[in-house]
Amino acid sequence: MSPALERRGVGLVVTAPSGAGKTTVTRKLIALEPALALSISVTTRRPRPGEREGVHYYYRDREAFCRLAEGGALLEWAEVYGQGYGTPRAAVEASFAAGRDVAFDIDWQGWRQLRRAMPDDMVGVFLLPPSASALRERLVGRAGDSEADIARRLAAADEDLSHWNEYDYVLVNDDLEACVAALRSILAAARLARSRQAGLAAFVESLQARPRLG
Ligand code: ADP
Ligand code: 5GP
Repeated sequence: MSPALERRGVGLVVTAPSGAGKTTVTRKLIALEPALALSISVTTRRPRPGEREGVHYYYRDREAFCRLAEGGALLEWAEVYGQGYGTPRAAVEASFAAGRDVAFDIDWQGWRQLRRAMPDDMVGVFLLPPSASALRERLVGRAGDSEADIARRLAAADEDLSHWNEYDYVLVNDDLEACVAALRSILAAARLARSRQAGLAAFVESLQARPRLG
């Protein structure tokens, strides 16, 4: 491999108020990007219909979740809508060490912790819904949450939205395909950042050392 191709993995964090579409958008991006893995979080909430252990989340009871958090097995964790959510540390560290990229579907508390812990590795994107009514419709239209849970998520939307200006990029998730394309552009640019191209200095040196023509 050319030294210029050696690079550090990018951590792509996507946050939005619940229902804005970040799970849908990040999963579509993963399907298009073979070098991008999704960080699978641990949660104490119950699976929604169609959700599977190890695919959408690792579902654990409160006691097991606390053991993971206290034992240092989570890179970050937070209480969101009354449930525990956290990012397993080992998978992320292994991906970065191998130069692979990782997408995170986490809230603003998680973004703050990851940005602080790994400032050079993380890029943060905040998704906005196209309107307040669209956010409500998407939340209500999604199967699997109780009415109380939907009400709790809607009530939290204002607080969630207030963190938009802590992120590097902000996208409006109106047309799904356009939003995925924009996120893909952000990932492409992040991969090209000078700081992430670890082999660049050696590569440029090798260019300078080449025999002069003529
Ligand atoms: P989040 O992960 O942000 O809570 P989801 O990805 O679960 O949100 O999306 C919430 C609902 O909105 C789902 O039913 C999803 O199919 C729908 N949705 C997501 N993005 C769009 C979009 N651009 N246009 C219309 N519906 C969308
Ligand atoms: P949901 O229950 O709708 O899947 O997720 C609820 C919220 O928890 C979303 O805002 C989601 O981004 C956030 N979340 C999911 N996993 C994690 C995690 O590992 N850490 C943090 N901090 N938030 C998470």
